[in-house]
Amino acid sequence: MTSLKGIAASNGIAIAKAYRLVEPDLSFDKKTIDNPAAEIERFRLSMEKSKSELELIRKNAEENLGADKAAIFEAHLLVLSDPELIAPIEEQITNEKVNVEAALKETADMFVKMFEQMENEYMKERAADIRDVTKRVLSHLLGVQIVNPSMISEEVIVIAEDLTPSDTAQLNKQFVKGFTTDIGGRTSHSAIMARSLEIPAVVGTKTATAEIKNGDLVIVDGLKGEVHINPTPETVQQYQQVHLQYEAQKAEWAKLVNEKSVSADGFHVELAANIGTPKDLKGVKLNGGEAIGLYRTEFLYMGRDQLPTEEEQFEAYKAVLEGMEGKPVVVRTLDIGGDKELPYMNLPKEMNPFLGFRAIRLCLEEQDIFRTQLRALLRASLFGNLKIMFPMIATLDEFRSAKKILEEEKQKLIGQGQKVSEKIELGIMVEIPSTAVLADQFAKEVDFFSIGTNDLIQYTMAADRMNQRVSYLYQPYSPSILRLVKMVIDAAHSQGKWAGMCGEMAGDEIAIPLLLGLGLDEFSMSATSILKARSQIRNLSKADMEKLTGEVLNLQTTSQVIEAVKNATK
Ligand code: PEP
Ligand code: MG
Repeated sequence: MTSLKGIAASNGIAIAKAYRLVEPDLSFDKKTIDNPAAEIERFRLSMEKSKSELELIRKNAEENLGADKAAIFEAHLLVLSDPELIAPIEEQITNEKVNVEAALKETADMFVKMFEQMENEYMKERAADIRDVTKRVLSHLLGVQIVNPSMISEEVIVIAEDLTPSDTAQLNKQFVKGFTTDIGGRTSHSAIMARSLEIPAVVGTKTATAEIKNGDLVIVDGLKGEVHINPTPETVQQYQQVHLQYEAQKAEWAKLVNEKSVSADGFHVELAANIGTPKDLKGVKLNGGEAIGLYRTEFLYMGRDQLPTEEEQFEAYKAVLEGMEGKPVVVRTLDIGGDKELPYMNLPKEMNPFLGFRAIRLCLEEQDIFRTQLRALLRASLFGNLKIMFPMIATLDEFRSAKKILEEEKQKLIGQGQKVSEKIELGIMVEIPSTAVLADQFAKEVDFFSIGTNDLIQYTMAADRMNQRVSYLYQPYSPSILRLVKMVIDAAHSQGKWAGMCGEMAGDEIAIPLLLGLGLDEFSMSATSILKARSQIRNLSKADMEKLTGEVLNLQTTSQVIEAVKNATK
């Protein structure tokens, strides 16, 4: 048995056969051939195979993910039957006597380049379709398998170098029992999604793809952050036991679903959920979420090949607001960038995507996209208790510009006879240190803060949240982070505003006592963490935690903080 150590990204134990979700090697040599007819036959056969495969993928995607996500594969099928693409390939094979791999690649590359240079957004998007289809046909020519998460149809553990958020969204919980990756951190979005899907996961193992072969038996221990490859029957048995204990613990927590989130000395906090799609509401209900503290709307824009329309967005926001039946719903405007990419927007690659053109920066520049979203939100505001939140605010000017655009769209809608709620609170994510430091000034103009520690920690410590090599610097309990959090909460309270936290730290066992002591009003986390957090808070005294934080803020290191919390909560 080989064991790997990684980062515990999503709780639970999973035991199943490995399924490698790894990019195949599609390299080949350009060759001269002497039988063009046979080569063309090979080409046609691989096109046929690609077609049947895509039809199956489209069907699976439609059943599991919905018609909008399946539309991408529809576009791919169209490319496969396009004579404008097929004819030049066959001509090149006949005239130049080259192998089909070379003819296919050269013709496809020419079309990709041509489409990429077009002004029209729709045409630009076709470049990505051609690239994908070419890969598929090449894989059949070369006899290697292209993997696709939506094709998995038996119980497996997915092994990957990394999973993008849209790969993760395609994982079918029925079959994917767990996953492990070489890279990534606890706050990479694939880890966050694994938690909301309740799929045990270990990320940042560095060598999972090198060590694990297809079909190996794998145990993913998402509680400790360990992966065991081809374990002995005794180890499997031990882990089955751990799994049962964990399930029993969850059943205990589940008894608190309708209870209040009050500390032992009677102080109420709000335990809210982070969601990515209206489908997540079911989990919020099952786990007793009192509000939505963060709706990451960017997932609405992913896994498709064009921007969602105002109407599609309106329907999604309305569904969430209605589903929450008047409870607060904080919707964050588009936060694209970092590890969340939108290939169809064709944004230039950046050296430091987490420090680049993303989130509110992009929205203030690409105002059509921003205004469409704001209109959808304003129209949906009538259906529940909507609060709008801007991501990645670094300066007051950014906040004021975004607010002005929102106000303009509101007036336009009212001018057109539309009704809009008069009580929409407007807040910001505090995830950039400049904003935390200037929180007293922001607090005069916003209605609330939500502290985004996933980013705040990476920017404060200058340690990429996706990079496991610097994950030792990713320290939520560092006194430096705790002081920033205190500044933000105090600033909000001094202006009679509320402060929440929607970074993963809000659901963390060591952080919760400290956040309670610091006076955080709202804790927003993966829905699956809520009941455990509620159970913990009900056993803590706020007065004692205030005393604890008073001491902790003057400590020097993270390990001292952890020790102090453990001593105080024993
Ligand atoms: C954060 O940065 O803490 C946050 C909640 O946003 P995201 O994880 O989507 O960047
Ligand atoms: Mg963030």
